[in-house]
Amino acid sequence: MLMKNAVANFNFAITVFAITLATAALVFAQRANAQQTPAPALPYSPSLNLDSMDKSVDPCVNFYKYSCGGWQKSNPIPPDQTSWSVYGKLYQDNLAFLRGILEQAAAQTAGRDTVTQEIGDFYGACMDESAVNRAGLAAIQPPLDAIAKLQSVPAIAPLAATLTLPFGRTLIFESGSNQDTDNSEQEIADLDQGGLGLPDRDYYTKDDAKSKEIREHYLLHVQRVFELLGDKPEVARKNADDIMRIETALAKASWTRTEQRNPYNLKNKMKVADLERLTPSFDWSAYYRDAAYPKFEIVNVESPKFYKQLDVELKTEPLDTWKTYLRFHVADSYSPFLSAPFVDENFEFYRKYLRGATELQPRWRRCVQCTDYNLGEALGQAYVQKVFSPELKASTLDMVDRIEDAMKERIGQLDWMSPETKQQALVKLAGIRNKIGYPDKWRDYSSVRIRPTDFAGNIERAGNFELHRQIKKIGQPVDHGEWDISAATVDAYYNPQMNDINFPAGVLQPPLYDPRLDDAPNYGNTGGTIGHELTHGFDDEGSQFDAKGNLKDWWTKADREKFDQRTKCVEDQYSSYVVVDDVHLNGKLTLGENVADLGGELLAFMAWKSKTAPLNLQPVDGLTPEQRFFIGFAQWDCANERPDDLRMRATTDPHSPADDRINGVVVNMPEFSKAFSCKPGQPMAKLPDQVCHVW
Ligand SMILES: [Zn+2]
Repeated sequence: MLMKNAVANFNFAITVFAITLATAALVFAQRANAQQTPAPALPYSPSLNLDSMDKSVDPCVNFYKYSCGGWQKSNPIPPDQTSWSVYGKLYQDNLAFLRGILEQAAAQTAGRDTVTQEIGDFYGACMDESAVNRAGLAAIQPPLDAIAKLQSVPAIAPLAATLTLPFGRTLIFESGSNQDTDNSEQEIADLDQGGLGLPDRDYYTKDDAKSKEIREHYLLHVQRVFELLGDKPEVARKNADDIMRIETALAKASWTRTEQRNPYNLKNKMKVADLERLTPSFDWSAYYRDAAYPKFEIVNVESPKFYKQLDVELKTEPLDTWKTYLRFHVADSYSPFLSAPFVDENFEFYRKYLRGATELQPRWRRCVQCTDYNLGEALGQAYVQKVFSPELKASTLDMVDRIEDAMKERIGQLDWMSPETKQQALVKLAGIRNKIGYPDKWRDYSSVRIRPTDFAGNIERAGNFELHRQIKKIGQPVDHGEWDISAATVDAYYNPQMNDINFPAGVLQPPLYDPRLDDAPNYGNTGGTIGHELTHGFDDEGSQFDAKGNLKDWWTKADREKFDQRTKCVEDQYSSYVVVDDVHLNGKLTLGENVADLGGELLAFMAWKSKTAPLNLQPVDGLTPEQRFFIGFAQWDCANERPDDLRMRATTDPHSPADDRINGVVVNMPEFSKAFSCKPGQPMAKLPDQVCHVW
C-alpha cells in the first residue's frame, strides 16, 4: 500500500492486495469464480466469523491457522484465480454487483446520461466477443503497419511517441509526469525504466534452475505471439531470441525493486540537453513533440543507467530487430483485448504458467474489471451511490481520527526518539490528508470516444486519454484531490509525495468494515489497515519525505541510526521466513509493508482501548474483547495461495504472504501474548528482548 504516480512508476503502484494498473493487462485475461449472475447487492459476511476459525489449532502456536483455518478449508482457490482471500473474494463480489450496473447501462435505451453511455458502451463492446474475434488482428493493424514502415533507428522516437499501450503505458520505457521531489506542489516530466515482457528485471538475471526454466517458457511465449502475427516458426523463434537479448540488456541496467525503495536513487533531475547526452541515439525532441508534451525545462530520470544502456542497444541492434521488438510489445500488450488465440496465449503464459491459475475467467468478469480499470471514476459514481452512505463515511472518518490520535500519543511515548525528531514527526502526521470513499470531483471521460462495437479501439483511446492526462500535468500545480485507484477497488494506499491516505468505498465494506458488529473486530481489521497506511508515512521509504511530500531529511542523525537499527530487526525477522521451496522472503523488499503492518496494529489496539475505556466489555462467544480484536485482525487476511503465485510475488510484491502478515505482527505484540495467555518461548510469543518495535 504505497503508491506513487500511476503512469510513470508502475513498479511503485503497489497496494494491500497488489492490484495495480501495471498488472491490469495481465489480470484482464484472468480472474475468478463467484456468482454467475449479476448480484443485486453485495453479500454480507461478518468481520469476525467463528466458522472461519480452526479452534483445534493453538493460537500461541499458529495464530493465523487458528483464526483462518476454517476459512481456508471452505474457500479453495477457484480454478481461474491465482490466489483466493477475503480481499479477493470481496473484490469478486464487487464485480458481480458492478456487472448488474453495467448490463443495465449497456442496454441501448434512449436518454442515457453521458456516464451511463460511457460505461455501458465500453462494457458492451468488450462483451461482444464475436465482433472481437471477427476483427482479429485488424484491431492492431494500424500500429503494426506504422512499425513496418519504420525507415531508420532515429525514427523510432517519434513513432514510440504516438503508439500508446493499454492503460496509458508507453513503449520501451515508462514516460509521464510525477511530483517534483524537491517541490511537491509542482508536477514535472518523468522517465522510468520499463520495456520488459517478464514481470521484473530479476527474471532476466537470476541463475537458478527455476529462473532458467521461466526464461525458456518466455521464449516459447514470445515465439507463439509472433506465429499468431503470421511469422513462420523459424522466424518467430529467431525473433524471440532477439527480444530476449534486448530485454536482458535493459534488465541488467535496471534498478532492482529493493534499490527502487531508496528515493534518492530515483531522483536524477536534468535538463533535456542532459538527457540527450545520456541517450543521444534517441530523438528526444521529436519524442516530446510528437507525444504532445507541454514545453518543460526539467525531467526526472529515475534510472539513468537504463537510459545509458538504451543508447547502447539503439547503436548496436539493427533497425529490423527494433521493429521486431516494437511489434512484439504492441501485440503482447493488446493480446488480452484481441481475438481468442491471443487471449488464450496471454492467459497460458502470464496467468497459468507464471501464477498457477488453471482456467480463464468468464468474459463478463474480465469486462467488468476492464471497465473499472479504464473508466473507474465513471463506474465509481454508480457504485458509491449504492454502497457508500453518508453514515458509513462519517463512521469510518471517526475511526481515522481516532487512529491518528493514537499515533500522536504513540509518537509522544517513543523512548528512543529525541524531542526534535518527535516534533517533526508530529508535523508530518498533522499534514496527512485523509481521503475516504471517493473523490470530491469525478474525472471527466467525455473526450474519450467510446464506440459500442470497437473494443480494442476503446482500450487504445482510453489508454491515450490516461497518458495525456498525466502529460498535461507537467508544469501544473499538484491536484490534491486526485485518486490513483477507483472507488470500487478493494484496497487502500498511502502516497508519500502527496502525504495522503486513500480509502476507496470498496475497502470499507463487510467483512472488512462491518457496521453491524462492535468495535473489537472492526478496529482489529479496518483500524489496523488505517494504522498501516498512516505508518507508511514513517516506514523506511515514507520517512524520508516531509509533511509536504518533499524528499527532505527531518531526522537527527542519531535518531535515524536508531530507526535503522529498529527496522533491521524487522528485516531480519521476515528474511528468515521461507515462501516456497528454498525461496526466502526478501526482508528488504517487504520492509515498508512489514513495518506498516506492525505499526498499524499497535495503533489500532491503542485507539480501540481508548475508545472503549469507559465501557465494561464482556466476552462474546467465549472470546474476550482482546481476543476478538486480534481474530478480527487476522481475518482480514484469510487466504489460500498457490506456490507459483507465491514464487512470483517473492520477486515482485513488497507485501509478505498472508500468514506472515499476521503471525509476523502478533509475535511482536505483548498485548497479543497476554490476550491468549501465551508462554514465553511459544512460537507466537517472542522473548521480550527479541521483540521488534519501530513505531
Ligand atoms: Zn502497505
